[in-house]
Amino acid sequence: MELIDSHCHLYVPDFAADINEVIKRAKNAGIKRFYLPAIDRESESLLFDLESRFPGECFAMQGLHPCSVKGDFSEELKRVETSLSLRKFAAVGETGLDFYWDRSFESRQYQAFHQQIEWALHYALPIVIHSRQSIEQTIAVVREHQKGSLNGIFHCFNEDEQSAREIIALGFYLGIGGTVTYKNSKLPEVLKNIPLENIVLETDAPYLPPVPFRGKRNESSYIRYVAQKLAEIKEVDVETVATITTANALKIFAV
Ligand SMILES: [Zn+2]
Repeated sequence: MELIDSHCHLYVPDFAADINEVIKRAKNAGIKRFYLPAIDRESESLLFDLESRFPGECFAMQGLHPCSVKGDFSEELKRVETSLSLRKFAAVGETGLDFYWDRSFESRQYQAFHQQIEWALHYALPIVIHSRQSIEQTIAVVREHQKGSLNGIFHCFNEDEQSAREIIALGFYLGIGGTVTYKNSKLPEVLKNIPLENIVLETDAPYLPPVPFRGKRNESSYIRYVAQKLAEIKEVDVETVATITTANALKIFAV
């Protein structure tokens, strides 16, 4: 069985002490590739370091996280722009809109999101989107830019079926992670009606661990619990979930 973790922050300090073990456990669980979304300037060198330690397994994205859009955002965007011009990345991301934590930088979040989509189009890269308490607005921005060539993932998708269908109609994939295993999650009902062909798996490690690891650090090997849950929802075996979602991820990412 081959799995791909389409979204994990394995470079953050939470993993500094045992990253080799974390990667080893993940490989033993069948995970072949780890896609690393960028956050901001502070974590960039950690991300690049991890990528260079695991060539062909860890793949860097480049972007500015909406929660890192602050007063210095134009410098941050300049850094992203330069970096994108210097080498190949798997995707632009994570980018998007987050109105949950802080709305004071809302207009700058929009500006940063539009800008990053334009770079994705320019370099023919997919975008990895973070959306929290902003799904309608996020979909509207993507729709505005979708002339046929834009693609990517709505990471940590946790919305209703209507939003899922709009995202799929835009040619995007749903990133499904640990939240699908949560007791009160409405996602299982939603995903019953969504084909596996529109889904990729992710952990968002070290965040959002699946049941039975809630409250602990999440890691990529736990993606099996997400795959297992999806298999139950879709009434297929877990190998089918792995085969289809892995093929989807390989189709999306530029490397
Ligand atoms: Zn993330």
